[in-house]
Amino acid sequence: MSGKGVRDVVLVGAGHSHIFVLERCIERGAPDARLTLVVDRRIAIYSGMVPGYVAGQYRVEQLEIDAVGLAERAGARVVLDPAVGIDPVGQRILLENAPSVPYDLASFDIGSTVTGLDVPGVRQHALPTRPIGEFVEQVDALVEKARRYDRGDLFQVVVVGGGAGGVELAFALDQRLRDATKRTLRVVLLEFGPRILSRYPSSLVRRVHRCAASRGLEIRCNEEVVAAEEGAVLLRNGGRVPCQALIWVTGPKSHPVFRRSGLATDERGFVQVRPTLQFRDHDELFAVGDCATLVQHPNTPKAGVYAVRQGPYITDNLYAALEGRPLRAYKPQGDFLTLLNLGDGRALGAKWGVTFEGRWVMRWKDRIDRRFMRRFQTLAGGGPANQDTPPTS
Ligand SMILES: Cc1cc2nc3c(=O)[nH]c(=O)nc-3n(C[C@H](O)[C@H](O)[C@H](O)COP(=O)(O)OP(=O)(O)OC[C@H]3O[C@@H](n4cnc5c(N)ncnc54)[C@H](O)[C@@H]3O)c2cc1C
Repeated sequence: MSGKGVRDVVLVGAGHSHIFVLERCIERGAPDARLTLVVDRRIAIYSGMVPGYVAGQYRVEQLEIDAVGLAERAGARVVLDPAVGIDPVGQRILLENAPSVPYDLASFDIGSTVTGLDVPGVRQHALPTRPIGEFVEQVDALVEKARRYDRGDLFQVVVVGGGAGGVELAFALDQRLRDATKRTLRVVLLEFGPRILSRYPSSLVRRVHRCAASRGLEIRCNEEVVAAEEGAVLLRNGGRVPCQALIWVTGPKSHPVFRRSGLATDERGFVQVRPTLQFRDHDELFAVGDCATLVQHPNTPKAGVYAVRQGPYITDNLYAALEGRPLRAYKPQGDFLTLLNLGDGRALGAKWGVTFEGRWVMRWKDRIDRRFMRRFQTLAGGGPANQDTPPTS
């Protein structure tokens, strides 16, 4: 690291890991450096509660972490502008509009975008789940559209992508639109692969199918969407599925920042990091959460639980790098607790191959999520996460 006086530490993105860094700065004092948060929007959204919000179980304030409030309390300067590149030689973060920001150490926690946005018609006709803040902003308009729809009896919603997010959103929308509109409604989940939840136990998949059948929710596998148009999606096999609303929740893909900057990435453009969370080829650059792929564990799922687990590691390692101490090695856990909100007051769960379901599972999920939000909302000076009774719909 350079021998100049005050060093610049730049956090890019306010994802699930960086909020731990800000928390440490607030509670134990900022490191001996000038701290800057570069972020594209003031509010970070906690995705774990988004399906509950869509289902009508939470208010929007309950999903929100005031990233700028946290940063200010941490004594950080805030630059509200998306990072678009990195100059690793000149040690600068390149921004879309504002002047570039110099760094001695920088860490990225900018999440991911979704694949398939280049499928013809998707940008015009679909509602993608990323950026998640923009998705959340569109939910009420979708419900309103369903309420006012008068061009036929059936309002059909197509959800594309049978991962955990797609499954939860399909159930959540089914519940919300039924509650809000009382109209004839169908949610169809389209999955490109031979089964939904490809990385989860078969018994969880069976439970999802059973719950879907009992709710009239249709799940179709081996269906590749090749185009979207007004009122329908077109399939590779020539089929056409009518839809009045189209939700795009296909797999994660990297923002172009890393590849554009000539850094070492995996095939999806996610930056490669070592166990210390440093970039493969740069000691002064770190990355965590969805945007990073661990060289030694490249198949680690892009899930918030991993980003959360990396929070204490990136915090320790940034402090250690500044103080010249050895860095800690992060090793991802082998399995994680999956809790899928069904939108009707029940949830499905899986851990170590064992699966379960019921209202108690939803109460458990709700407690975990609220505890997490209480911690960071209180720190940022807010705290609506706990003002309501648990969801019971
Ligand atoms: C509907 C849905 C439900 C989900 N539910 C779960 C769940 O229950 N459990 C789970 O483990 N995972 C879940 N996930 C996956 C989870 O959302 C991600 O894995 C998680 O958000 C990744 O966290 P992160 O810290 O990497 O990034 P994020 O939480 O996405 O944060 C990224 C941050 O970077 C900012 N940013 C983005 N681009 C830029 C830029 N260019 N410059 C500056 N700032 C930028 C953003 O505004 C944000 O502050 C869900 C995903 C979806 C879509």
